[in-house]
Amino acid sequence: MADHPIETPPRAPSPVHRFGTLAVHAGSPHDPTTGAVIEPISLSTTFAQTAVGKPVGQYEYSRSSNPNRENFEKAVAALEHAKHALAFASGSATTAIILQSLAAGSHVISVSDVYGGTHRKGARCQSYVYARDRVDISEHITPETKLVWIETPSNPTLRLVDIRAVASQAHEHGIMVVVDNTFLSPYIQNPLDHGADIVVHSVTKYINGHSDVVMGVAAFNSDAMKERLGFLQNAIGAIPSAFDSWLAHRGLKTMHLRVREATTNATAVAKALEGSPHVIAVNYPGLGSHPHRAIALRQHRNGMGGGMLSFRIKGGHAAAERFCQTTSLFTLAESLGGIESLIEVPSSMTHAGIPKEQREAVGVFDDLVRVSCGIEDAEDLKADVLQALEKAVVASKITNRFAINGNGHA
Ligand SMILES: *Cc1c(COP(=O)(O)O)cnc(C)c1O
Repeated sequence: MADHPIETPPRAPSPVHRFGTLAVHAGSPHDPTTGAVIEPISLSTTFAQTAVGKPVGQYEYSRSSNPNRENFEKAVAALEHAKHALAFASGSATTAIILQSLAAGSHVISVSDVYGGTHRKGARCQSYVYARDRVDISEHITPETKLVWIETPSNPTLRLVDIRAVASQAHEHGIMVVVDNTFLSPYIQNPLDHGADIVVHSVTKYINGHSDVVMGVAAFNSDAMKERLGFLQNAIGAIPSAFDSWLAHRGLKTMHLRVREATTNATAVAKALEGSPHVIAVNYPGLGSHPHRAIALRQHRNGMGGGMLSFRIKGGHAAAERFCQTTSLFTLAESLGGIESLIEVPSSMTHAGIPKEQREAVGVFDDLVRVSCGIEDAEDLKADVLQALEKAVVASKITNRFAINGNGHA
Protein backbone atom coordinates (compact mmCIF):
# COMPACT_ATOMS: atom_id res chain seq x y z
CA MET A 1 0.00 0.00 0.00
CA ALA A 2 2.59 2.50 1.14
CA ASP A 3 4.54 2.08 -2.10
CA HIS A 4 1.68 3.37 -4.16
CA PRO A 5 0.85 7.00 -4.49
CA ILE A 6 -2.36 7.77 -2.63
CA GLU A 7 -5.38 7.65 -4.88
CA THR A 8 -7.08 10.99 -4.57
CA PRO A 9 -10.75 10.94 -5.48
CA PRO A 10 -11.84 13.58 -7.97
CA ARG A 11 -12.29 16.69 -5.83
CA ALA A 12 -13.81 19.16 -8.28
CA PRO A 13 -17.56 18.89 -7.70
CA SER A 14 -19.69 19.41 -10.76
CA PRO A 15 -22.00 22.40 -11.08
CA VAL A 16 -24.92 20.18 -10.06
CA HIS A 17 -23.70 20.37 -6.48
CA ARG A 18 -25.28 22.94 -4.24
CA PHE A 19 -23.64 25.88 -2.53
CA GLY A 20 -22.62 24.29 0.77
CA THR A 21 -21.13 21.28 -1.00
CA LEU A 22 -19.16 23.49 -3.35
CA ALA A 23 -18.01 25.75 -0.50
CA VAL A 24 -16.55 22.76 1.33
CA HIS A 25 -15.14 20.80 -1.61
CA ALA A 26 -14.37 23.03 -4.61
CA GLY A 27 -10.64 23.69 -4.89
CA SER A 28 -9.98 21.41 -1.90
CA PRO A 29 -7.94 18.44 -3.16
CA HIS A 30 -6.49 15.96 -0.69
CA ASP A 31 -2.74 16.39 -0.54
CA PRO A 32 -1.41 13.91 -3.13
CA THR A 33 1.67 12.94 -1.11
CA THR A 34 0.34 12.71 2.45
CA GLY A 35 -3.41 12.44 1.95
CA ALA A 36 -3.91 15.45 4.22
CA VAL A 37 -7.58 16.39 4.01
CA ILE A 38 -6.77 20.07 4.51
CA GLU A 39 -4.22 21.50 2.11
CA PRO A 40 -0.84 22.44 3.54
CA ILE A 41 0.25 26.08 3.41
CA SER A 42 2.70 26.34 0.57
CA LEU A 43 5.15 29.00 1.72
CA SER A 44 7.95 28.30 -0.77
CA THR A 45 8.50 31.28 -3.07
CA THR A 46 10.19 29.16 -5.74
CA PHE A 47 9.84 25.66 -7.13
CA ALA A 48 12.61 23.30 -8.32
CA GLN A 49 13.12 22.54 -11.98
CA THR A 50 14.61 19.27 -13.29
CA ALA A 51 15.96 20.93 -16.43
CA VAL A 52 15.94 24.49 -17.68
CA GLY A 53 12.30 25.50 -18.09
CA LYS A 54 11.09 22.13 -16.73
CA PRO A 55 9.59 22.64 -13.27
CA VAL A 56 8.81 19.50 -11.25
CA GLY A 57 5.14 20.39 -11.03
CA GLN A 58 3.03 23.20 -12.41
CA TYR A 59 4.58 25.96 -10.28
CA GLU A 60 7.69 28.09 -10.86
CA TYR A 61 7.53 31.24 -8.77
CA SER A 62 4.95 32.17 -6.18
CA ARG A 63 4.00 35.62 -7.52
CA SER A 64 2.97 33.96 -10.80
CA SER A 65 1.07 31.12 -9.16
CA ASN A 66 0.83 29.41 -5.80
CA PRO A 67 -1.14 26.29 -4.79
CA ASN A 68 -3.08 28.01 -1.99
CA ARG A 69 -4.02 30.97 -4.15
CA GLU A 70 -5.09 28.69 -6.99
CA ASN A 71 -7.24 26.51 -4.75
CA PHE A 72 -8.92 29.59 -3.32
CA GLU A 73 -9.52 30.93 -6.84
CA LYS A 74 -11.09 27.62 -7.90
CA ALA A 75 -13.43 27.72 -4.92
CA VAL A 76 -14.56 31.28 -5.65
CA ALA A 77 -15.06 30.48 -9.35
CA ALA A 78 -17.33 27.57 -8.38
CA LEU A 79 -19.37 29.67 -5.94
CA GLU A 80 -19.78 32.57 -8.40
CA HIS A 81 -20.67 30.27 -11.33
CA ALA A 82 -17.60 31.55 -13.15
CA LYS A 83 -15.02 29.84 -15.34
CA HIS A 84 -12.13 31.80 -13.83
CA ALA A 85 -11.25 33.69 -10.67
CA LEU A 86 -8.15 35.70 -9.79
CA ALA A 87 -7.19 36.73 -6.26
CA PHE A 88 -5.50 40.00 -5.36
CA ALA A 89 -3.89 41.63 -2.33
CA SER A 90 -7.09 43.54 -1.45
CA GLY A 91 -10.48 44.48 -2.80
CA SER A 92 -8.97 47.83 -3.73
CA ALA A 93 -6.14 46.19 -5.69
CA THR A 94 -8.78 44.17 -7.56
CA THR A 95 -10.62 47.36 -8.54
CA ALA A 96 -7.38 49.13 -9.51
CA ILE A 97 -6.30 46.26 -11.74
CA ILE A 98 -9.65 46.08 -13.53
CA LEU A 99 -9.50 49.85 -14.16
CA GLN A 100 -5.84 49.51 -15.19
CA SER A 101 -6.83 46.88 -17.77
CA LEU A 102 -8.91 49.48 -19.65
CA ALA A 103 -7.36 51.55 -22.43
CA ALA A 104 -5.99 54.94 -21.32
CA GLY A 105 -8.71 57.62 -21.40
CA SER A 106 -11.55 55.13 -20.91
CA HIS A 107 -14.71 56.42 -19.28
CA VAL A 108 -16.43 54.52 -16.48
CA ILE A 109 -20.03 54.83 -15.31
CA SER A 110 -20.62 54.10 -11.62
CA VAL A 111 -24.12 53.20 -10.57
CA SER A 112 -25.03 54.33 -7.04
CA ASP A 113 -23.13 55.32 -3.94
CA VAL A 114 -20.08 53.15 -4.53
CA TYR A 115 -17.52 52.15 -1.91
CA GLY A 116 -15.55 55.18 -0.71
CA GLY A 117 -12.28 53.77 -2.02
CA THR A 118 -13.68 53.00 -5.47
CA HIS A 119 -14.90 56.58 -5.54
CA ARG A 120 -11.43 57.94 -4.73
CA LYS A 121 -9.79 55.91 -7.46
CA GLY A 122 -12.09 56.74 -10.29
CA ALA A 123 -12.82 60.41 -9.73
CA ARG A 124 -11.09 61.56 -12.90
CA CYS A 125 -12.88 59.56 -15.60
CA GLN A 126 -16.16 58.58 -13.99
CA SER A 127 -19.84 59.49 -14.20
CA TYR A 128 -22.21 58.68 -11.34
CA VAL A 129 -25.77 57.46 -11.65
CA TYR A 130 -27.93 57.16 -8.56
CA ALA A 131 -29.64 53.80 -8.08
CA ARG A 132 -33.33 54.48 -8.71
CA ASP A 133 -36.10 52.02 -9.46
CA ARG A 134 -35.11 51.97 -13.12
CA VAL A 135 -31.51 52.87 -13.76
CA ASP A 136 -30.98 54.54 -17.13
CA ILE A 137 -27.31 54.81 -18.06
CA SER A 138 -27.91 55.84 -21.70
CA GLU A 139 -27.41 59.59 -21.23
CA HIS A 140 -24.00 58.96 -19.61
CA ILE A 141 -22.62 56.76 -22.37
CA THR A 142 -19.83 58.34 -24.44
CA PRO A 143 -17.72 56.77 -27.20
CA GLU A 144 -15.02 56.28 -24.52
CA THR A 145 -17.28 54.45 -22.07
CA LYS A 146 -15.81 51.01 -21.51
CA LEU A 147 -17.19 49.93 -18.19
CA VAL A 148 -20.22 50.17 -15.93
CA TRP A 149 -19.45 49.63 -12.25
CA ILE A 150 -22.37 48.50 -10.10
CA GLU A 151 -22.53 48.06 -6.36
CA THR A 152 -25.68 46.28 -5.27
CA PRO A 153 -26.57 46.66 -2.49
CA SER A 154 -24.91 50.05 -2.46
CA ASN A 155 -22.80 51.23 0.42
CA PRO A 156 -24.08 52.47 2.86
CA THR A 157 -27.70 53.11 1.80
CA LEU A 158 -28.41 49.54 0.62
CA ARG A 159 -30.10 50.60 -2.62
CA LEU A 160 -30.39 47.76 -5.14
CA VAL A 161 -29.60 47.81 -8.84
CA ASP A 162 -31.30 45.56 -11.37
CA ILE A 163 -28.16 43.97 -12.82
CA ARG A 164 -29.97 42.43 -15.81
CA ALA A 165 -31.52 45.77 -16.82
CA VAL A 166 -28.21 47.66 -16.67
CA ALA A 167 -26.26 44.86 -18.39
CA SER A 168 -28.74 44.79 -21.28
CA GLN A 169 -28.27 48.52 -21.88
CA ALA A 170 -24.48 48.32 -21.52
CA HIS A 171 -24.09 45.30 -23.77
CA GLU A 172 -25.99 47.02 -26.60
CA HIS A 173 -23.05 49.46 -26.67
CA GLY A 174 -20.35 46.83 -26.19
CA ILE A 175 -19.73 48.07 -22.62
CA MET A 176 -18.58 45.68 -19.92
CA VAL A 177 -20.38 45.38 -16.58
CA VAL A 178 -18.65 44.82 -13.23
CA VAL A 179 -20.61 44.10 -10.06
CA ASP A 180 -19.11 44.55 -6.60
CA ASN A 181 -20.82 41.72 -4.72
CA THR A 182 -19.02 42.29 -1.40
CA PHE A 183 -22.13 43.20 0.62
CA LEU A 184 -24.09 40.04 -0.20
CA SER A 185 -21.43 37.37 -0.80
CA PRO A 186 -21.78 34.69 -3.49
CA TYR A 187 -24.21 32.84 -1.24
CA ILE A 188 -26.95 35.42 -1.68
CA GLN A 189 -26.23 36.80 -5.16
CA ASN A 190 -24.42 35.57 -8.28
CA PRO A 191 -24.12 38.62 -10.61
CA LEU A 192 -22.81 36.63 -13.60
CA ASP A 193 -26.13 34.77 -13.70
CA HIS A 194 -27.84 38.16 -14.19
CA GLY A 195 -25.64 39.28 -17.09
CA ALA A 196 -22.59 40.85 -15.41
CA ASP A 197 -19.20 40.26 -17.05
CA ILE A 198 -17.08 40.41 -13.91
CA VAL A 199 -17.96 40.02 -10.23
CA VAL A 200 -15.58 41.39 -7.62
CA HIS A 201 -15.33 40.96 -3.86
CA SER A 202 -13.44 42.47 -1.04
CA VAL A 203 -12.60 39.03 0.41
CA THR A 204 -11.78 40.95 3.59
CA LYS A 205 -15.53 40.94 4.30
CA TYR A 206 -17.93 37.96 4.05
CA ILE A 207 -15.76 35.51 2.08
CA ASN A 208 -13.01 35.39 4.68
CA GLY A 209 -15.52 36.47 7.30
CA HIS A 210 -13.29 36.54 10.37
CA SER A 211 -11.82 40.07 10.17
CA ASP A 212 -8.26 38.76 9.95
CA VAL A 213 -7.36 38.91 6.23
CA VAL A 214 -7.27 41.77 3.69
CA MET A 215 -7.77 40.34 0.21
CA GLY A 216 -9.75 40.67 -3.02
CA VAL A 217 -10.98 38.52 -5.89
CA ALA A 218 -12.51 38.89 -9.37
CA ALA A 219 -14.48 36.13 -11.13
CA PHE A 220 -15.59 35.99 -14.79
CA ASN A 221 -16.12 33.66 -17.75
CA SER A 222 -14.05 35.19 -20.56
CA ASP A 223 -10.76 33.50 -21.46
CA ALA A 224 -9.48 36.78 -22.92
CA MET A 225 -10.20 38.47 -19.58
CA LYS A 226 -8.28 35.71 -17.78
CA GLU A 227 -5.34 36.45 -20.06
CA ARG A 228 -5.49 40.23 -19.52
CA LEU A 229 -6.15 40.31 -15.77
CA GLY A 230 -3.84 37.32 -15.16
CA PHE A 231 -1.05 39.23 -16.90
CA LEU A 232 -1.61 42.23 -14.62
CA GLN A 233 -1.91 40.02 -11.52
CA ASN A 234 1.57 38.69 -12.22
CA ALA A 235 3.13 41.86 -13.65
CA ILE A 236 1.92 44.28 -10.97
CA GLY A 237 2.24 41.63 -8.29
CA ALA A 238 -0.57 42.82 -6.01
CA ILE A 239 -1.12 39.23 -4.91
CA PRO A 240 -2.32 37.72 -1.63
CA SER A 241 0.17 35.68 0.42
CA ALA A 242 -0.08 31.88 0.63
CA PHE A 243 -1.10 32.18 4.28
CA ASP A 244 -3.85 34.72 3.56
CA SER A 245 -5.10 32.61 0.65
CA TRP A 246 -5.26 29.59 2.96
CA LEU A 247 -7.06 31.52 5.72
CA ALA A 248 -9.55 33.04 3.28
CA HIS A 249 -10.21 29.59 1.83
CA ARG A 250 -10.87 28.23 5.30
CA GLY A 251 -13.28 31.11 5.93
CA LEU A 252 -15.03 30.51 2.61
CA LYS A 253 -15.94 26.95 3.62
CA THR A 254 -18.39 28.22 6.27
CA MET A 255 -19.63 31.25 4.36
CA HIS A 256 -23.15 29.90 3.76
CA LEU A 257 -23.62 29.22 7.48
CA ARG A 258 -22.34 32.65 8.49
CA VAL A 259 -24.25 34.58 5.84
CA ARG A 260 -27.51 32.82 6.70
CA GLU A 261 -27.07 33.65 10.39
CA ALA A 262 -26.07 37.26 9.65
CA THR A 263 -29.23 37.61 7.54
CA THR A 264 -31.40 36.22 10.34
CA ASN A 265 -29.80 38.70 12.75
CA ALA A 266 -30.01 41.69 10.40
CA THR A 267 -33.69 40.93 9.76
CA ALA A 268 -34.41 40.90 13.50
CA VAL A 269 -32.43 44.12 14.09
CA ALA A 270 -34.01 45.88 11.08
CA LYS A 271 -37.51 45.04 12.30
CA ALA A 272 -36.70 46.26 15.81
CA LEU A 273 -35.32 49.52 14.41
CA GLU A 274 -38.31 49.96 12.13
CA GLY A 275 -40.61 49.64 15.12
CA SER A 276 -38.69 52.20 17.21
CA PRO A 277 -39.93 55.78 17.66
CA HIS A 278 -36.28 56.93 17.76
CA VAL A 279 -35.56 55.96 14.17
CA ILE A 280 -36.34 58.05 11.08
CA ALA A 281 -35.84 55.35 8.44
CA VAL A 282 -34.30 51.90 8.00
CA ASN A 283 -32.50 50.75 4.84
CA TYR A 284 -32.60 46.96 4.64
CA PRO A 285 -33.34 45.01 1.44
CA GLY A 286 -34.92 42.19 3.45
CA LEU A 287 -37.79 44.41 4.62
CA GLY A 288 -41.08 44.68 2.74
CA SER A 289 -40.74 48.47 3.07
CA HIS A 290 -37.49 48.58 1.05
CA PRO A 291 -38.04 50.55 -2.18
CA HIS A 292 -36.26 47.87 -4.24
CA ARG A 293 -37.68 44.82 -2.51
CA ALA A 294 -38.88 43.46 -5.87
CA ILE A 295 -35.27 43.41 -7.11
CA ALA A 296 -34.17 41.53 -3.99
CA LEU A 297 -36.82 38.90 -4.66
CA ARG A 298 -35.53 38.41 -8.21
CA GLN A 299 -31.80 38.74 -7.61
CA HIS A 300 -31.10 37.40 -4.11
CA ARG A 301 -31.28 33.80 -2.92
CA ASN A 302 -34.75 33.42 -1.32
CA GLY A 303 -35.03 37.23 -1.29
CA MET A 304 -32.52 37.31 1.59
CA GLY A 305 -31.45 40.78 2.73
CA GLY A 306 -27.89 39.97 3.87
CA GLY A 307 -26.16 41.07 7.05
CA MET A 308 -25.85 44.80 6.30
CA LEU A 309 -28.30 47.58 7.08
CA SER A 310 -28.29 51.28 7.81
CA PHE A 311 -30.69 53.63 9.57
CA ARG A 312 -31.23 57.31 10.32
CA ILE A 313 -31.40 58.05 14.02
CA LYS A 314 -33.43 60.93 15.52
CA GLY A 315 -31.22 63.63 17.04
CA GLY A 316 -28.77 64.17 14.19
CA HIS A 317 -25.08 63.45 14.02
CA ALA A 318 -24.60 63.77 17.77
CA ALA A 319 -27.16 61.03 18.42
CA ALA A 320 -25.53 58.81 15.77
CA GLU A 321 -22.18 59.22 17.51
CA ARG A 322 -23.68 58.60 20.95
CA PHE A 323 -25.44 55.49 19.66
CA CYS A 324 -22.19 54.01 18.38
CA GLN A 325 -20.51 54.60 21.72
CA THR A 326 -23.40 53.11 23.70
CA THR A 327 -23.79 49.66 22.19
CA SER A 328 -22.05 46.90 24.10
CA LEU A 329 -22.05 44.06 21.52
CA PHE A 330 -21.68 46.11 18.33
CA THR A 331 -18.14 47.45 18.08
CA LEU A 332 -17.57 50.91 16.66
CA ALA A 333 -15.27 50.14 13.73
CA GLU A 334 -15.02 50.30 9.96
CA SER A 335 -15.34 47.15 7.84
CA LEU A 336 -18.11 44.53 7.77
CA GLY A 337 -18.93 40.93 7.02
CA GLY A 338 -17.15 39.36 9.98
CA ILE A 339 -18.47 37.04 12.67
CA GLU A 340 -18.68 40.00 15.07
CA SER A 341 -21.20 42.84 14.77
CA LEU A 342 -19.87 46.29 13.88
CA ILE A 343 -21.32 49.79 13.58
CA GLU A 344 -20.07 53.05 12.16
CA VAL A 345 -21.15 56.52 11.05
CA PRO A 346 -20.37 56.70 7.30
CA SER A 347 -20.50 60.52 7.04
CA SER A 348 -17.48 60.86 9.32
CA MET A 349 -15.79 57.49 8.76
CA THR A 350 -15.96 55.39 5.56
CA HIS A 351 -17.52 58.15 3.44
CA ALA A 352 -15.87 61.22 4.98
CA GLY A 353 -13.89 61.83 1.77
CA ILE A 354 -17.02 62.52 -0.28
CA PRO A 355 -18.27 66.15 -0.29
CA LYS A 356 -21.32 66.64 1.98
CA GLU A 357 -23.63 67.82 -0.80
CA GLN A 358 -22.80 64.80 -2.96
CA ARG A 359 -23.13 62.50 0.04
CA GLU A 360 -26.56 63.78 1.03
CA ALA A 361 -27.80 63.61 -2.56
CA VAL A 362 -27.48 59.82 -2.33
CA GLY A 363 -28.89 59.55 1.20
CA VAL A 364 -25.69 59.50 3.26
CA PHE A 365 -26.85 61.95 5.93
CA ASP A 366 -24.93 62.86 9.07
CA ASP A 367 -27.44 60.89 11.17
CA LEU A 368 -26.97 57.66 9.19
CA VAL A 369 -25.59 54.68 11.11
CA ARG A 370 -24.32 51.62 9.23
CA VAL A 371 -24.63 48.22 10.88
CA SER A 372 -22.90 44.96 10.03
CA CYS A 373 -24.63 42.11 11.84
CA GLY A 374 -22.39 39.27 12.90
CA ILE A 375 -23.37 35.76 13.93
CA GLU A 376 -24.11 36.36 17.61
CA ASP A 377 -27.64 35.65 18.87
CA ALA A 378 -30.42 37.76 17.36
CA GLU A 379 -32.13 38.46 20.69
CA ASP A 380 -28.91 39.82 22.20
CA LEU A 381 -28.21 42.05 19.19
CA LYS A 382 -31.78 43.38 19.20
CA ALA A 383 -31.64 44.16 22.91
CA ASP A 384 -28.31 45.93 22.49
CA VAL A 385 -29.60 48.16 19.69
CA LEU A 386 -32.78 49.05 21.60
CA GLN A 387 -30.95 49.95 24.83
CA ALA A 388 -28.45 52.06 22.86
CA LEU A 389 -31.32 53.93 21.13
CA GLU A 390 -32.90 54.72 24.49
CA LYS A 391 -29.62 56.09 25.79
CA ALA A 392 -28.58 57.94 22.64
CA VAL A 393 -31.94 59.56 21.89
CA VAL A 394 -34.11 59.67 25.04
CA ALA A 395 -31.67 59.79 27.93
CA SER A 396 -29.56 62.45 26.24
CA LYS A 397 -32.63 64.67 25.75
CA ILE A 398 -33.34 64.47 29.46
CA THR A 399 -29.71 65.21 30.29
CA ASN A 400 -29.69 68.18 27.90
CA ARG A 401 -32.83 69.67 29.41
CA PHE A 402 -31.33 69.27 32.85
CA ALA A 403 -28.15 70.97 31.70
CA ILE A 404 -30.06 73.93 30.27
CA ASN A 405 -32.25 74.35 33.36
CA GLY A 406 -29.42 73.79 35.74
CA ASN A 407 -26.84 76.12 34.22
CA GLY A 408 -28.94 78.55 32.33
CA HIS A 409 -26.89 77.97 29.20
CA ALA A 410 -28.58 77.12 25.90
C1 LIG B 1 -14.09 46.96 1.76
C2 LIG B 1 -14.68 47.12 0.42
C3 LIG B 1 -13.87 47.31 -0.72
C4 LIG B 1 -12.36 47.42 -0.62
O1 LIG B 1 -11.79 46.24 -0.21
P1 LIG B 1 -10.40 46.16 0.61
O2 LIG B 1 -10.22 44.70 0.77
O3 LIG B 1 -10.59 46.91 1.88
O4 LIG B 1 -9.37 46.81 -0.24
C5 LIG B 1 -14.50 47.40 -1.95
N1 LIG B 1 -15.85 47.34 -2.07
C6 LIG B 1 -16.65 47.18 -1.00
C7 LIG B 1 -18.13 47.14 -1.20
C8 LIG B 1 -16.10 47.07 0.27
O5 LIG B 1 -16.92 46.92 1.34
